[in-house]
Amino acid sequence: MPPARPRFATLDETHDPARVSWVASANGHADFPIQNLPFGVFRRAGSNEAPRVGVAIGDAIVDVAACHAADCFAEESERVHRAARACAAPSLNTLMALGAEARIALRGALSRLLDESEPVHLRQTAQHALVPQAEAELFLPVQVGDYTDFYASVHHASNVGALFRPDQPLLPNYKWVPIGYHGRASSLVVSETPVRRPRGQRKGPNDAVPTVGPSRSLDYELELGAFVGTGNALGSTIAMPDAETHLWGVCLLNDWSARDIQAWEYQPLGPFLAKNFASTLGAWVVTMEALAPFRTALAPRAEGDPAPLPYLAAESDAAFGALDVTVEVWLRTAAMRAQGLPATRLSQGSARDLYWTFAQMLAHHASSGCNLRPGDLLGSGTISGPAPDSRGCLLELTRRASEPLTLPSGETRGFLEDGDELTLTAFAARDGAVRIGFGTCRGEVLAADA
Ligand code: MN
Repeated sequence: MPPARPRFATLDETHDPARVSWVASANGHADFPIQNLPFGVFRRAGSNEAPRVGVAIGDAIVDVAACHAADCFAEESERVHRAARACAAPSLNTLMALGAEARIALRGALSRLLDESEPVHLRQTAQHALVPQAEAELFLPVQVGDYTDFYASVHHASNVGALFRPDQPLLPNYKWVPIGYHGRASSLVVSETPVRRPRGQRKGPNDAVPTVGPSRSLDYELELGAFVGTGNALGSTIAMPDAETHLWGVCLLNDWSARDIQAWEYQPLGPFLAKNFASTLGAWVVTMEALAPFRTALAPRAEGDPAPLPYLAAESDAAFGALDVTVEVWLRTAAMRAQGLPATRLSQGSARDLYWTFAQMLAHHASSGCNLRPGDLLGSGTISGPAPDSRGCLLELTRRASEPLTLPSGETRGFLEDGDELTLTAFAARDGAVRIGFGTCRGEVLAADA
């Protein structure tokens, strides 16, 4: 008998595949049907409006606080009212701090409001709180206090390790400890923000001394980021069975990386300037509830691998801790744009292929007594799978530029060039559920400062 679905994987009427919205563009939308309802921060482009929380529905955004002000939630609970009021803020942090129950209640209320069976007078009121996405400016959804990037893909760790340490690709701690490092929150930018090629110290194996200049091996990393909702007090820990209730939602994350700077600086303390010049977040945070139909077990560990230590283990996590989310990377160079060529897909992988779940990363993070706070970001690390076309960065795909990719334009790429436009996408789909997506996480590479 299959194990019972834990609360975080439980389905309710908001997941009903038969539910359709009066927002016509939502029905059949690849990313934002009524079953998704991801959160972001927006305002009308070119306006002086205050940025505020919105929810994507089809081609539009619902202004949640405006709905509340117009009494669309009059029949709903006080919990919904409090959550809707938190959506007047310029980031999701206030709503995140209210925790899982507030998020679940607001999702239910929004799902009812946007359902085609909603009474006409409420639909008409809510219609006034819709802004077309094409007319909106999107902001970083969260003011991230602390950003930690993990290394949760054993395939990525093995592939990269083999390039740098052919004799010992995977270090002995990997299968015991969710490896991570403390990243930089100040340089997180939202999708569509151009990213300038960093300058730094580079020293090739045949160079006597390092030189300073623009990175010659700029790379992306295909990741998912999980946001912390309610945190924990300094000195306290989070037990695995409780870890899911501290996770708020998931978004796309590109951890841009300068491999030449990284190779020279990373020992003994890990990534520093190679990673801190920019990391791009998708604009939409997909809630844990929207992901409930797509919860599953991680791909099985290899024969002989240790079981997770007790503080990293829970039955519910073993059965449903993973996200059955497909992740993709697309590249469009300046020449491809000039020739009218569409973006080309570089890779496709799955978050199921990670070695650790977000709940394990979170429980491990707090296991020292480190306090996590609402809006903290946990990056998965590059998501790579066992197949060659599932490698989530160019370092792996081109084996450090030794096997360049050939693009539809005839160009080749070992690493990114100026003018390259890099896009991450992700979606979840299975029989019996409506497909949902994460939008896009895009950035164009600008030339280094002179
Ligand atoms: Mn990374």
